[in-house]
Amino acid sequence: MGDIVFTDKDEQMIQKEFESLLADYRNTHHRQKVELITKAFHFAKNAHQGVRRKSGEPYIMHPLAVAKIVVKEIGLGSTSICCALLHDVVEDTEYTVEDIQNLFGDKIASIVDGLTKISGGVFGKQANIQAENFRKLLLTMSEDVRVILIKIADRLHNMRTLEYQPIEKQYKIAGETQYIYAPLAHRLGLFTIKTELENLSFKYEHPDTYKEISDKLEAIKSTQLAFFEKFADPIRERLKQMGYEFEIAARIKSVYSIWNKMQAKGIAFEDVYDLLAVRIIFEPKPEFQENDQCWMLYSAITAIYKPHPERIRDWISTPKANGYEALHVTVMGQNGQWVEVQIRSRRMHEIAERGLAAHWKYKTGEKSESELDKWLKQLKDILQSPEPNAMEFLDTFKLNLYASEMFVFTPSGDIHTMPKGSTALDFAFMLHTDLGAHCIGAKVNRRLEPLNYILKAGDQIEILTAEEQTPKEEWINIVTTAKAKGRLKSYFRRQNREFARKGEELFNEKLKELNITDKYDSALYKLQQHYQIYNKTELFQQIGNGIIVLDDVEKIFIPKQQNKWLKYLNPFSNNKNKNTDIITTDSQKERIKQVVLTEENFGKQYHIAQCCHPIPGDEVLGYQDPSGEITIHKRFCPVATRLKSVDGKHICNAIWETHRKNTFIETIELQGIDRVGVIISVLHIISDQFKINIHDLHITAENGIFSGIIQLHVYDKQEIIELLKTIRKVPNIESVQRIDQIDGIEEIEELD
Ligand code: MN
Repeated sequence: MGDIVFTDKDEQMIQKEFESLLADYRNTHHRQKVELITKAFHFAKNAHQGVRRKSGEPYIMHPLAVAKIVVKEIGLGSTSICCALLHDVVEDTEYTVEDIQNLFGDKIASIVDGLTKISGGVFGKQANIQAENFRKLLLTMSEDVRVILIKIADRLHNMRTLEYQPIEKQYKIAGETQYIYAPLAHRLGLFTIKTELENLSFKYEHPDTYKEISDKLEAIKSTQLAFFEKFADPIRERLKQMGYEFEIAARIKSVYSIWNKMQAKGIAFEDVYDLLAVRIIFEPKPEFQENDQCWMLYSAITAIYKPHPERIRDWISTPKANGYEALHVTVMGQNGQWVEVQIRSRRMHEIAERGLAAHWKYKTGEKSESELDKWLKQLKDILQSPEPNAMEFLDTFKLNLYASEMFVFTPSGDIHTMPKGSTALDFAFMLHTDLGAHCIGAKVNRRLEPLNYILKAGDQIEILTAEEQTPKEEWINIVTTAKAKGRLKSYFRRQNREFARKGEELFNEKLKELNITDKYDSALYKLQQHYQIYNKTELFQQIGNGIIVLDDVEKIFIPKQQNKWLKYLNPFSNNKNKNTDIITTDSQKERIKQVVLTEENFGKQYHIAQCCHPIPGDEVLGYQDPSGEITIHKRFCPVATRLKSVDGKHICNAIWETHRKNTFIETIELQGIDRVGVIISVLHIISDQFKINIHDLHITAENGIFSGIIQLHVYDKQEIIELLKTIRKVPNIESVQRIDQIDGIEEIEELD
């Protein structure tokens, strides 16, 4: 690169393009900063010297084209033109942002910096990187909206020259354009650019369908245009009589929007009736209000053609959220064809074409803030409490980009724009975060409605609040707007931090109370294991908000005592199970590869997992926790599986080598047909025949069916297999099996 010398022809083409840019610039009302623009041009030209685009053109032709779009199609001024000329310099050449800053000042440097940061495409290889890039893009945009406007111009020129890219790149760029740049252009009111972006994306994503539709469109264009002339004549005459200066033009639907309509309605090309629209742009007379004159034109047109009673769109009294103003009416043409007529003043037209830039141009200091201003403000708001999960952020944000709006009212008659599908709770958050946080319901059109009431256009909504109300988790599913979602999420994040802090405090107090403050790690691990919550913060959060109560925490450290009646039932009961689960005092810090499960080591070198209760004979493995203690899990225990994937290097092999000295708690579940004595028979087998101690027993009977859960002290797997074999033979026992159960499993499951 850099060595190729441009030909005279190249140089002439570059010079011609630059002069055409200056001519476009001189045509605007902007201050005449030709010198600065010339300086930027020469700097960029020099920086990209010798480099060509894939099309074969000298590279500088691209920044020149982007600058032209910026001035001519978006209507921005000299700063933006310079930035457009310089937009690829930092990205593609050896110059830095500092160089730009020294030569062109802070403002231009910071915009070029923003443009450089969001280059390389919104879509990376991974979804999260995509979303993160997108957030960066929005962040820069909220700092200076010109960044995104220039970026859109850049994208438009790249789309216009997409044919020179390899096919796979075409797909990627077209997809990205369709996904984010077209909606953004729409949201910023750049209607013409949005339409072109969509159309070009469609062309490259679906080349065959595009060709099919555009051929058909080409074929009927002449008849449509002939029809337009006939249709427009009487209107022209009437408006001239009224003394108006105006333009009237035919608008043929774009290929993409025809395809969209065919898809949405499931119809053929021939059945798309509104291929043609008519646009009237008038110069308002000074003696009347601009809005009133739109209605005057409306009356004039509907005196000639009959209007469709249900197809009047009044974007004059209340402009669209992207700033669009116009009056649309559909009338019946001469040959029975419905034609949409769009009535706009010159000012409205410029806003519709150029969006934001034109909008600022016409903005007077006194005027109340527009919907677009509000949206930009809201955008900054959302970005101030950023969603940590970039992907979710993207989803909620995109929801807001696409949503169509409706108008609703406060009790005092203030009008607000809300996305379709918003709920009363969204509305509360839109008005004020405090109103949302304390919302208990709403009066909609004077009727009491719940938080999740879905707003309808024209609703009048009074938000009802209560001091003691606080945001609830399920509200996340009630709200649909990015603002409300963002506010709720940041509330819960704050609350969870508070819960975690309080939970840890309670935990420490409990250790103090039990006099085991030196066993912080080991006690914490016991608790984590018991509740199967291995994330420390999450565990503390649950303690902090009262889901996990530490009152009975001793039970997790010290085994349950048998109750008296069980002892009575079990004449052979003894306390051979005393050391099931104790905290090991001298922890072994070194890594262990294999543990031999013997009576001697039991409770010292290892203990048994509460989640799956393996017993001798079961296939097991060991997990060595940070304090050096080893817990034995069944091989198929889900907790063990999780530990294997998360902390695999602390998994060790385990071999049983017991001599029937210790017992383990094992749970069996049985079902049968209720019959007097059947339970007695089972208990007889357990206690007398097998001499197994019962740890706990729950029997329920309903509609002649009984089911029971029995916890037993057994030596090993063989013993329980023999026991189950014998119980199965008892008449009226339908099923009996071993189950993995932990103490209090019911309560834990309910909490989830
Ligand atoms: Mn570029």
